[in-house]
Amino acid sequence: RAVQALPDGVVILDSANRIEWCNLTAEGHLQLDGRADLGQNIANLVREPEFIEYLERSKETSVRVTRDHGLALSLRLIPFGQSQKLLLSRDVTQFERVDAMRRDFVANVSHELRTPLTVLVGFLETLQNLKLDPQRQRDYLGMMQEQAARMQRIIDDLLTLSALDGAPPASSETQIAMRPLVERLKSDAEALSAGKHKIQVSMDASSDLLGVESELASAFGNLVSNAIRYTPAGGTVTLAWREGTDGARFSVEDTGIGIEAEHIPRLTERFYRVDRSRSRETGGTGLGLAIAKRALARHEATLEIHSEPGKGSRFTARFPARRLASRDKELS
Ligand code: ADP
Repeated sequence: RAVQALPDGVVILDSANRIEWCNLTAEGHLQLDGRADLGQNIANLVREPEFIEYLERSKETSVRVTRDHGLALSLRLIPFGQSQKLLLSRDVTQFERVDAMRRDFVANVSHELRTPLTVLVGFLETLQNLKLDPQRQRDYLGMMQEQAARMQRIIDDLLTLSALDGAPPASSETQIAMRPLVERLKSDAEALSAGKHKIQVSMDASSDLLGVESELASAFGNLVSNAIRYTPAGGTVTLAWREGTDGARFSVEDTGIGIEAEHIPRLTERFYRVDRSRSRETGGTGLGLAIAKRALARHEATLEIHSEPGKGSRFTARFPARRLASRDKELS
């Protein structure tokens, strides 16, 4: 019963690698039938070449195999008794997934930084090697500054992400008054738009939001700046704060370029962009929504995205009722 309760798979093999017994976890991992497969040679049932090789030679301490039902397993043989063996299996699917994500992430960061760095180095070489007139020199320096600023934005965003990743849930001690926050977001939007868009606000304001103001302001600000950046001149951007019995929501709606359905589930992945060059031209790092989603999650909020290509998008942050405090309570 004790072995049955282990989270690892356990198979007892005899001297000829025949199955004497296995626990339920091993049945699941290795797709064995605890009754019908007794007495069978395990090599006939688990046929992955890496495993067969390991079974015959067992030079390594363990072997990784991926089973056809998608599980990644770490298998380990341990001799015991006269000539029997214990075969232990551990599910490492999640570990491998995280490892692959980590590798992807490092590759992405390097790629993102390499592009502006290459441009920067190119200009530096030109400035060093060619005698340029002062105007040309100034132009080149300006472009170098742009690339350096871009690298700085990427690094700032990465640091913000990593700070959010390890952080515990945001405390509920501070009450954030929504009206001034939304007004600030509106004037930021107007500054960014420079008169090219119509910016509207619609709001209820009987409750305050509980959390860390700087994080929420930056998450909401990202949604607002995206709405401006991805909406052509003449479009409308609407900021709304709505309260209900089951919580409240902050939404940003635009009449911009919209997003094809296939991209929507991936938008909050780090560095995911629908159109790389459009994002870059407007100073995007591809990290804004990843940061916003994490900051919202720390406040128990979810991010919903509705969009139609050519018509516009709506990004909604939904907060549970426990993240609200009534304004009256604060006044009394
Ligand atoms: P970026 O810095 O590229 O804007 P984000 O993480 O903020 O990065 O957004 C990821 C991608 O989602 C953007 O590159 C863009 O393709 C898409 N996107 C975000 N907001 C909008 C929007 N309001 N309208 C259309 N596309 C958007």
